[in-house]
Amino acid sequence: MFEKILIANRGEIALRIQRACRELGIKTVVVHSEADREAKYVRLADESVCIGPAPSRESYLNMPAIISAAEVTDSEAIHPGYGFLSENADFADRVEKSGFVFIGPRPDTIRLMGDKVSAKRAMIEAGVPVVPGSEGALPDDPQEIIRVAREVGYPVIIKAAGGGGGRGMRVVYTEAALLNAVTMTRSEAGAAFNNPEVYMEKFLENPRHIEIQVLADGGRNAVWLGERDCSMQRRHQKVIEEAPAPGIARRLIERIGDRCADACRKMGYRGAGTFEFLYENGEFYFIEMNTRIQVEHPVTELITGIDLVQQQILIAAGEKFALRQRDISFKGHAIECRINAEDPFRFVPSPGRITNWHTPGGPGVRIDSHAFNGYFVPPNYDSMIAKVITYGDTRDQALARMRIALSEMVVEGISTNIPLHRELLQDSRFIEGGTSIHYLENKLAQRP
Ligand code: ADP
Repeated sequence: MFEKILIANRGEIALRIQRACRELGIKTVVVHSEADREAKYVRLADESVCIGPAPSRESYLNMPAIISAAEVTDSEAIHPGYGFLSENADFADRVEKSGFVFIGPRPDTIRLMGDKVSAKRAMIEAGVPVVPGSEGALPDDPQEIIRVAREVGYPVIIKAAGGGGGRGMRVVYTEAALLNAVTMTRSEAGAAFNNPEVYMEKFLENPRHIEIQVLADGGRNAVWLGERDCSMQRRHQKVIEEAPAPGIARRLIERIGDRCADACRKMGYRGAGTFEFLYENGEFYFIEMNTRIQVEHPVTELITGIDLVQQQILIAAGEKFALRQRDISFKGHAIECRINAEDPFRFVPSPGRITNWHTPGGPGVRIDSHAFNGYFVPPNYDSMIAKVITYGDTRDQALARMRIALSEMVVEGISTNIPLHRELLQDSRFIEGGTSIHYLENKLAQRP
């Protein structure tokens, strides 16, 4: 087992990884920017290294600074968390070439899944159902593009192979708009992702976002740990996640879960990962794979009793990966609300000093947060400051506990989206379960 791990991230996930390490008896090094110098989790770590000024480009995305921090502290492995460099194959490569263990998949796997065209091809080969669409990237020939779109059937969506974060996509409803949309998406993709390749998919009009969590040892052992429903989204950003997904037959989930585990075996996948699907009319359609731990991982931890971050570390350390599919069972229901420092009506970020901070507790309540009374939320990073996660024997109990938790929670000095969460927890369609990815946006559009 490792003696010391460097955490190349910030905020709640840096604290989450630190907790996993402590339980495993591993020392931690936290790297931080000048803006995060005062954060409590930085002081809780065994060691900390300042790697640059506030802008991410100069700190959390600064590969040489992170690798030298690992060198000077004698760290053995680097955990990238989510966001920042977590899905950067070149970083994983540099980490390994510098003699450290990258806690995540092999660089080649990250590269393969980072290109959505190659990821989709790999899924088709592994027998995972994908959204119908072009075979690989779209060609230059306009007639051929028109032909493919007719075959797929309108509406279609043009997506950048290198896209991410909900950017580089365009929905097309008519043939008249097609070629222009392809040209525009291509030039945006070239500028934003350095890769002008685009592909076409059928645009599913009212799907849910359902994802499957996996763990694999890089060899023959791969397991899936249930699904998460992340359909409550705004601008492709998840707002509430839950597990299990309400109203989907268990045998459908089992079938797709087995496919995902199979795909991991075929790819020699190593570590934790998530297969993201759109789900419509009883069918799953793969859209992309995330080769890292995800923000919403706690809901899976609560219904399986498995610590996913510890498992990532154990797998990376080459410890015998002991989990078998038959050991994984699901119990109860878990819901996560992402608490963002933002205006709950206009959604503009609301950084600044927290003047009063009180988090809820009690049975079935878990808070993952690096914030505290007097904490200054820096303006430089993602606005998420806490995750409130509740667990219950049933979905109704998890919902009731979430309502209580959010009624207890106090954050003053900055604005948060807690009022939006409180509103959603009273929403009859959400309470029923199974709303689509457009539900929240439509609801917000109807606000007075
Ligand atoms: P990103 O990596 O940018 O998040 P994804 O491929 O995961 O891109 O897609 C992000 C979101 O875009 C999905 O969650 C869904 O809301 C929408 N989307 C993507 N592909 C389709 C599709 N074929 N039909 C309908 N919506 C889609």
